[in-house]
Amino acid sequence: MLGLMQDWPLLLYKIIDHAAQQFGDREVVTRSIEGPIHRTNYREVRDRALRVAQRLEKDGIKLGDRVATLAWNTWRHLEAWYGITGVGAVYHTVNPRLFPEQIAWIVNHAQDRAMLLDLTFVPLMEAVQDKCPSIERYVILTDKAHMPATKLKNAIAYEEWIAEVDGDFAWKDFDENTAAGLCYTSGTTGDPKGVLYSHRSNVLHALQGCMKDTLSVSAQDSILPIVPMFHANAWSLAFSVPLAGAKFVLPGAKLDGASVYELLETEGVTLSAAVPTVWLMLMQHMQANKVELHTLNRVVIGGSACPPSMIEFFEERGVTVNHAWGMTEMSPIGTIGAIKPQLAALKGKDLMAIKAKQGHAIFAVEMKITDDENNRLPWDGVKFGRLKVKGPAIARRYFKREDEEILDEEGFFDTGDVATIDPNGYMQITDRAKDVIKSGGEWISSIDLENLAVGHPDVAEAAVIGVVHPKWDERPLLVIVPKEGKEIDRDAMLKFMDGKIAKWWMPDDVQFVREIPHTATGKINKLKLREEFKDYKLPSA
Ligand code: ADP
Repeated sequence: MLGLMQDWPLLLYKIIDHAAQQFGDREVVTRSIEGPIHRTNYREVRDRALRVAQRLEKDGIKLGDRVATLAWNTWRHLEAWYGITGVGAVYHTVNPRLFPEQIAWIVNHAQDRAMLLDLTFVPLMEAVQDKCPSIERYVILTDKAHMPATKLKNAIAYEEWIAEVDGDFAWKDFDENTAAGLCYTSGTTGDPKGVLYSHRSNVLHALQGCMKDTLSVSAQDSILPIVPMFHANAWSLAFSVPLAGAKFVLPGAKLDGASVYELLETEGVTLSAAVPTVWLMLMQHMQANKVELHTLNRVVIGGSACPPSMIEFFEERGVTVNHAWGMTEMSPIGTIGAIKPQLAALKGKDLMAIKAKQGHAIFAVEMKITDDENNRLPWDGVKFGRLKVKGPAIARRYFKREDEEILDEEGFFDTGDVATIDPNGYMQITDRAKDVIKSGGEWISSIDLENLAVGHPDVAEAAVIGVVHPKWDERPLLVIVPKEGKEIDRDAMLKFMDGKIAKWWMPDDVQFVREIPHTATGKINKLKLREEFKDYKLPSA
């Protein structure tokens, strides 16, 4: 027997409709690419998203077609997502930090029919457009006054493009399982893989973000998502924030410490989300200029491990840190570090030990850790194994690789991460399976060593890689970027770590560099780093 409730498909336009109707005047503020701060609201965003939808239809874009966006977080990019999905087409977020050849590769794989791009990226696309024949038109996210002279095919300014229709348009209706968004994983090994979100998965995930113990997005908040819309579905914030009716603050192209600090303060931001490298820039700015935060009270930090020293920096200033873990394949949030009631009395070091973990699974994410034979391991906080996940907003197949099985016999997806889960359900990432250091048959967590090293007051960034050792197979090498104007002594560094980790985890050597390579999503690029140190010989070898 079926229930007798209404059929109300979980489609993304319902979110912007709700925001416009219930929170129509709520502000959407952007540091525009052209320069000035731009202000609009949800009513206008919806009106203009309808024009985008109508205009796309006029260009022949229909259900299932892919439309690329190559853009920063701005109100126009937000309108574009709702407009594209409102005709049943698919927004394909292109990460501008990819190499031009990779951009051409994913555009061709996706067969994007149009591309909406920021002024910043016009030269980039002019250089690769010949390799992207599927794109019929480039819409530049600006107005006529700022439109550059460009050789991009059928180029038009976004404002002129949407002015060609009257906005008298109704969203299309289709099944909630229809594809909505496409995001390629950065593919540090092999070709990039396309994760294809549906309307249903995005709406379900957006609802999660509005739970107090998940991202805690609320109508009372002013929210600055620094995590770009081209990185892992912007952690769902492009949907959760309007869904809740919060004030939306968008950073545009400027993610440096000074620009982020200014927006946090002038727009009364209460909640923000970004990867550790971005927070590092903010922290350095605040320390150098001796300035403090006045309205911010929560931050979500994820994408790579958040070091305890970063958590302390914020919490000392009254800002609660929610450490989160997830991946593109998971829409992307899997766990969040909100404190469960049974741990509420913890203080000091004990509380920090929980906060440094990646957190407990949110609703609709099932987790397990297994050994290599897929036997489940206990949740004792000690045994670590492969982390596998299951849920309605987690990938089942990759785009155009539908014949490739990516789930185990129980329907779980292997995240490629190695983790422990404690009796309270808190998961802690030990490493990515490919980055863990295998020393004499035992595993050493590069993340733990990095977290410890960045706790040193003169260290700006640290990375640990395994290097070949004749006796132990691999031993850890610590690579450090000192803070501007600081010099660190190798032995002093090792002494700083001594006693805080097991003896056999101690790095065999320390190397100082000016820069550590990063991936397109802001993570330490271990592959590249290993390459850079491929001829390096450990003194112990
Ligand atoms: P990409 O792999 O393209 O850089 P993703 O954002 O999908 O982009 O990366 C997901 C991976 O990032 C996870 O599998 C995990 O290894 C790592 N990661 C994400 N959040 C955390 C975190 N809080 N702590 C440690 N690792 C993290």
